Amino acid sequence: MKFIKKDSRVVGVCLALIAVVVLLLPALSQTPAQPETHGIVVAHMDLAVKPGDDFYAYTNGEWLKRTEIPPDRATVGVFSILDNISSQRTADLIEQAAKSAAPAGSDVRKIADLYNSYMDEAAVEGKGLAPLRPQFEAIAAIQDKHQLAYALGQTLRTDVDALNNTNFHTPNLFGLWVAPGFNDSEHYTAYILQGGLQLPDREYYLAENEHMRDVRAAYAPHVAAMLKLAGFDDTDNRAKHVIELEHAIAEKHTSLADNEDIHKANNTWSQADFSGKAPGLDWPEYFRGAGLTQQSSFIVWQPAAFTAESALVASAPLENWKDWLAYHLIESMAGVLPKAVSEERFGFFGKTLTGTQQQRPRWQRGVGVVNGFLGDAVGKIYAEKYFSPEAKAQAQALVANLIEAFRKRIDALTWMDPTTKAEAKAKLSTLYVGVGYPDSWKNYSAYEVKADDIFGNVWRGRLFDYQQDLARLGKPIDRKWWSMTPQTVNAVNLPLQNALNFPAAILQPPFFDPKAPDAVNYGSIGAVIGHEISHTFDTEGSAFDSKGRVRNWWTPADLKHFEEATARLAAQYDTYKPFPDLSLNGKQTLAENIADVAGLAAAYDGYHAALAGKTAATQDGFSGDQQFFIAFGQSWAQKEREAVLRQQVVTDSHSPDRYRADTVRNLDPWYPAFSVQPGQTLYLGPEDRVRIW
Ligand SMILES: [Zn+2]
Repeated sequence: MKFIKKDSRVVGVCLALIAVVVLLLPALSQTPAQPETHGIVVAHMDLAVKPGDDFYAYTNGEWLKRTEIPPDRATVGVFSILDNISSQRTADLIEQAAKSAAPAGSDVRKIADLYNSYMDEAAVEGKGLAPLRPQFEAIAAIQDKHQLAYALGQTLRTDVDALNNTNFHTPNLFGLWVAPGFNDSEHYTAYILQGGLQLPDREYYLAENEHMRDVRAAYAPHVAAMLKLAGFDDTDNRAKHVIELEHAIAEKHTSLADNEDIHKANNTWSQADFSGKAPGLDWPEYFRGAGLTQQSSFIVWQPAAFTAESALVASAPLENWKDWLAYHLIESMAGVLPKAVSEERFGFFGKTLTGTQQQRPRWQRGVGVVNGFLGDAVGKIYAEKYFSPEAKAQAQALVANLIEAFRKRIDALTWMDPTTKAEAKAKLSTLYVGVGYPDSWKNYSAYEVKADDIFGNVWRGRLFDYQQDLARLGKPIDRKWWSMTPQTVNAVNLPLQNALNFPAAILQPPFFDPKAPDAVNYGSIGAVIGHEISHTFDTEGSAFDSKGRVRNWWTPADLKHFEEATARLAAQYDTYKPFPDLSLNGKQTLAENIADVAGLAAAYDGYHAALAGKTAATQDGFSGDQQFFIAFGQSWAQKEREAVLRQQVVTDSHSPDRYRADTVRNLDPWYPAFSVQPGQTLYLGPEDRVRIW
């Protein structure tokens, strides 16, 4: 939840769901928003709407009216437009790599071979399901629950991430996350998280509404179809048992809102504890399969789910678990199997779950695969080519102003205890802010890429990432480690490192434009930077001190004030209803909503500091303050299909974009800037506006 926006590339980095990633990747045919414009885009606004009634429509209404979502995507908006640019550049880099005849073993050669192996559709069709056969045979040979435990252990990957590029979902039984320790922030620690579901969240199995019932009705025939394509008989029956198993797991899963509470997550179990606290699964065999026999302890994020899932391994029939394993296997590799399989997967996970009408062209999916497995190799070339030292220096200056704005806001707080203030400022002083690209790059020498083996390349790529992460366990942490690649259009706060990453690809128009007025840069990228800094002090940030240690550095009175203020923000978001049968969950989205309000407030301060008392130039009759808020509203322009918007409300810790834009209603200066009056839809009395910092 610590990034600015849930984004296809974030999922791409986690490597778990290639087929999903690629269908969310942006189409390149879309025209970027008027590159000659430097400042707010008046043509996107609907000036007939009163800003106080619907600020999102006021800033984006005309754009929303004339923009269609392309058939091969689930959303279109500012982030996808920037993604287009980044993807096109990445595609060009890959094309050049493919032509360069780089030496064997070099990163450039790996980029070329990985891409070409993905593009060789004839080879994929020719091999059919043969690449899966050894895996299916291994599953078929499982004789008992001990062997099952070993096989389940072999599926463990580092495909979850609890606090950085937040992702609580893995279809494997469990997921591993390697990060600085809650209780030893100087060393990398093993966190283990619940898993086992193909659908995005437990709600998909349990919620009683029409949309979820429709999804479930389509899921059973999809599971059966995948098993049939894999050559299984009696597929309706097998699918029924697989879904029963997933349903039983879903019932015991911890909800997303609870997953975000780190105090519930800090449970250290020694390896020996698992058999006593979560009996059922043969844990020694599981850890042996996972290559983790040497790991003495783990932080178990959801202990109750571990107990329940382990018990299910014991109680459900072996044959059902074997079918579950086979189905999950074919699903995980569907993106690099013949068209019949990848189309079946897209039909369900693309069309039914997100409303997207058709798959991306293969070459665009290929770019996604290369970014997923060789993201740093591409990113190194990308950063050299597209992020100048001048742009880096300008962005760093903006970051420095935002940090200063936060420091002043903390100083001015009347409710915060002086010792808490001192620690808050210490956190600001030790914050590592990465701008553009990392200081060091991932080493791919141990990743074997073959020019004619996309299945093997993906299989080995996931294993390579897993083994790289295991090798970090117990080692001293690197506070300058990046969790996003430079070509990612996003930004992230890494609370256990007390660090921020702002990749090169988000530091471009409309977020960051050296030729645009300050009002616009502060309203767009300034608010993003402020958002990420705010995470340093929010519900989770307040649990980590300046060294990334889990230490509650707030006094009880400070915390009480903070909780009261933020509870009112949660209640504000609970009232938003994207659909008559679906409201936002103010608790699930609280940390992000806090970051939006606080980030915008700090950006506003930073803007006025940059003005240094001068009056801003108007643009098309709009004052500096108006441009600032309009730029913020326009940075959230997005259209999404109903299915994917519903999925976001249920599974994402970020509110839908229109409500993020409307958070301007919590800022006092927004009212005079647009003459917002009582009685208008977004009007809040001064006492109802939520001020966090
Ligand atoms: Zn965030």
